[in-house]
Formats: sequence, structure tokens, C-alpha cells
Amino acid sequence: MHSRALFVAAVSCGLAAVDAFTKCPASSPSRAALAPPGYGKLARSSSSLLTVKMGRKPIVGGNWKCNPAETAKLPELIGNFKKCAETLDKCDVYVCPSNLHVGMVYDKFPKGIMVTPQNCNFKGCGAYTGEMAVDQMVDMGLKSCLIGHSERRGEFGLPTPKETNALLATKLDYILSKGLTCIFCIGECLPIRQKGIDAVLAECADELRDIVPILKKLEDKSRVVIAYEPVWAIGTGVTASPEQAQETHKGIRDWIAKNVDQNTADEIRIQYGGSATAANAGELAAMPDIDGFLVGGVSLKAEIADIVKAMVVAKGDSATGVSSGASKVR
Ligand code: PEP
Repeated sequence: MHSRALFVAAVSCGLAAVDAFTKCPASSPSRAALAPPGYGKLARSSSSLLTVKMGRKPIVGGNWKCNPAETAKLPELIGNFKKCAETLDKCDVYVCPSNLHVGMVYDKFPKGIMVTPQNCNFKGCGAYTGEMAVDQMVDMGLKSCLIGHSERRGEFGLPTPKETNALLATKLDYILSKGLTCIFCIGECLPIRQKGIDAVLAECADELRDIVPILKKLEDKSRVVIAYEPVWAIGTGVTASPEQAQETHKGIRDWIAKNVDQNTADEIRIQYGGSATAANAGELAAMPDIDGFLVGGVSLKAEIADIVKAMVVAKGDSATGVSSGASKVR
């Protein structure tokens, strides 16, 4: 299903135990040494002489958007994630509470569930009224941040300024520079889907092009998760068919292989988002290029645990691979 055990690289100590998957001779400089400074720092254990790369670890996220209306509902919603925490060794899980509630709940989830703000500013603390800085997230012990949701890119006719691809690239750079993982959302609206797959992939490419240099220099590719969310499927009850979603995910992965590099394409995780439910999650999760879900409405229900379970069941043993070790932290 997934490419796994991609390579075992022996670095700097003459380890001879390099198996048939070896891609990198022991005498080669490590990828960390070759990478430009910045993003590699947190991805590597200083004592580690042996780097093991395996399949992509599934990842499921819940986006609460601007819900719930009453803080009294938060304990129940948090409780829905208890079951999701039972399989964190096989599937990373994150949740995006509303901005107002993040500060109330960030330390209330089971250990290992990543509380993930739905946005961040582009720079840091200071005179940025109404914004949230990644520096503040770091101080709170948060490990990830979501950006680029279609509702912030100007879909649904919201009367708010559209976030541009250039702005989102700046935000991604900032998030990674602070050591966090980023959920980076992309997706096409209905008129583009109606033109066919080539138009869909052209739109996805447009939304990804500005982050190519960032992906190129990122050492641990699991620190960027692409959430592919067709806008026509978000909150509509219309889900992309497994074949439709697989075709698009594969197209995105192929584009990344061509425009970033093959390693990034192999290792980056691509989630599907758009009316995912317990009923349709199994078939979608069985698709080889679907590495997880970003879930809106259903993440406000106990059913979210069934979506995580469907992902774990579908991916089986491959569900223990590359991740940033995020499941060890809040
Ligand atoms: C979303 O908002 O990211 C989303 C996927 O919503 P839903 O699951 O409700 O379609």
C-alpha cells in the first residue's frame, strides 16, 4: 500500500548494516548537513546515528471552526477525543478549537492529541490586533497550526479579505521556523471541479507553488501536512468518491514529485477533507494516497473516534511510520 521502510541510512560512524533499501551511502553527508539552516533543527535527535524512515503515519484532525457557542459544551466535545487517543501510535490526531477557546482547552485533551489553532499571524508578537502569534503557541506547548482553510481563502463569499498564496507561504515559513507542524489546506471550488481533473490539479498547483522552496528545504517532511479539501464537499454532505479523491491526491503527489522532489512526494502526508463521516471513511482511507482526514462537522460528535478507527484499520501496519513525533506531545 504505502511505501515503507524507504531507507535506512547509516551516518557518520561506519555502520555497515545497511539493507536492501539503502539509498544513501554511509560516506555521504547527512541530509541535515546538506539542508539550508532552519527547519531541520527539531527533526533530528542529536544522539541518533541511525535514521530510519518508514511509511507515512496517518493523521486525522477535527476542525471545530467557530463552535461551540457555549463553553459549557467544551467538556463533552473534548471527551469525544478520549477514544482517539488510544491509537496515537498508529494515527496522529489533532483538533482545532475556535480561537477563543484554544486558551481554555489546550491542556484539557488526552496527552498526545495536538491542539492546533485554525490560523496564525505572519510574524510574531507585537502590534497585530486580533492576531495569534506562533511564538505564543510555542510558549503554550502547542505543536501544530492549521492555515489556508478555504473559509479563510475567501470561499463561501465571506466578507473578509482573502488570504493569498503568498501570505500563506509567509505564514508556513514562520510556523516551521518556530518548530511547529503545519496543516496546509488547499482545494478547488465547484466550477473548477466541473471543468475536470486537469483544472482541479492546476488549481491545487497554483495553491502550492509558493511553498515549493519551503518544502524543498524542509528536512522532516512530516511537518507539513497537506489537507486537500474540495470546497464543494465541505459542509455539504457531498463527499468526493474514493476514486475521485484518490485521483486528486495522486495528482497532487505527482506534482510535488515533479516540482519539489520525489522524497517529499513520498513522505508528505495528504489528508482528505469534505463531509467525511464514519460511514464513508473506510473506503476513502483504503485509498493509497489518502493519509488521513480533516473533519469539520463530525469532529463535534463522538463519531470522530470512528473516523480515526477507520483510518487505523485501513492502513494497518503502515500506520506507524514517519511523523514528527507529535503524538508524544500535547
Ligand atoms: C472542514 O471544514 O475542513 C471540513 C472538512 O468540514 P466538513 O467535514 O463538515 O465537510
